[in-house]
Amino acid sequence: MNIHEYQGKELLRKYGVAVPNGKVAFSVEEAVEAAKELGSAVSVVKAQIHAGGRGKAGGVKVAKSLDEVQTYASEILGKVLVTHQTGPEGKEVKRLLIEEGCDIKKEYYIGLVLDRATSRVVMMGSEEGGTEIEEVAEATPEKIFKEVIDPAIGLQSFQARRLAYNINIPKELVNKAAKFMISLYTAFVEKDCSIAEINPLVVTGDGNVMALDAKLNFDSNALYRHPDIMEYRDLEEEDPKEIEASKYDLTYIALDGNIGCMVNGAGLAMATMDIIKHYSGDPANFLDVGGGATTEKVTEAFKIILSDKNVKGIFVNIFGGIMKCDVIANGVVEATKQVGLELPLVVRLEGTNVELGKKILKESGLNITAADSMADGAEKIVALVK
Ligand code: ADP
Ligand code: MG
Repeated sequence: MNIHEYQGKELLRKYGVAVPNGKVAFSVEEAVEAAKELGSAVSVVKAQIHAGGRGKAGGVKVAKSLDEVQTYASEILGKVLVTHQTGPEGKEVKRLLIEEGCDIKKEYYIGLVLDRATSRVVMMGSEEGGTEIEEVAEATPEKIFKEVIDPAIGLQSFQARRLAYNINIPKELVNKAAKFMISLYTAFVEKDCSIAEINPLVVTGDGNVMALDAKLNFDSNALYRHPDIMEYRDLEEEDPKEIEASKYDLTYIALDGNIGCMVNGAGLAMATMDIIKHYSGDPANFLDVGGGATTEKVTEAFKIILSDKNVKGIFVNIFGGIMKCDVIANGVVEATKQVGLELPLVVRLEGTNVELGKKILKESGLNITAADSMADGAEKIVALVK
């Protein structure tokens, strides 16, 4: 789960990570009021959306007076920001962060991710802050330094200092930077983050080390033990189809292809996406209806797939183990009764109650293309959507 920058900073502040003072604003008036309260000579008006690259897209403006705060706030609020992370449709700005302007001497990069190869958290750092780290990794990989963290003892101060030296933090600020890194690591672990990215981390004119940006991402499977983080969820930033799916406990992820997939089991769902790709098609989603899905759940899943305007055909690929084929068949029939079905539908059923499932589909009068195997089904749906 993603959260906004201002929420990330609020959380990090509790862990002793240095961040500038700031306030969230939902209207232009609130923005001006926030700047007044902050009372700094310079304030920065920052669009709050769940995507980076806001600066380049005009979503971060430095204001030197309350009038400028007002001008920039009205400019940015309600604007649809298109950044390299939002996709071409962009994201509408509904919240602003009004923050103290910071006297930046130099910008750095610090990030924490889980490295699946070593099964450990890795802290990455670079003196090339502000820019996208992907570009640095591409053009000058030698400018990215890593510290692999032992989970039993956590980030050690010698590691934090080594990283600070490597990325050329001024010598007199190395200890401050190390303290910053350790606090960030503590927040990351205690709150079950999957990503914590500080870009930029800055060294200021008055000798401070601060996070000017904060991108935190949390492991959804651990959210049940962090009610405080759940409070930060902003449904307006999420795909409505994914929200609907989570209500029914369906694992659904929207993708940008045109073949809707209804599958049970994450492994089969992955394999189904692969095989569609193999036949030069593009899946519109990842959907795992789970093992014990009811007819109601399957109906909802089908409706969610159909609500995606890009979907030009549906491939149902079910292996009935715990899940029975007749339940899937009933769900498909029920959903098409409720929402209609004009798109090609290919169904491959295998496993428990398969004969009954096939019978239900056949007697439904629906225009269904039956498939004998997974490959057969993928080939058929790819041909039908073309
Ligand atoms: P994004 O990564 O989405 O572009 P950032 O929060 O990193 O947004 O802001 C972009 C740039 O704006 C930063 O690299 C920094 O140079 C500048 N900036 C952001 N916040 C402040 C601030 N409080 N004071 C001064 N400059 C800032
Ligand atoms: Mg940034």
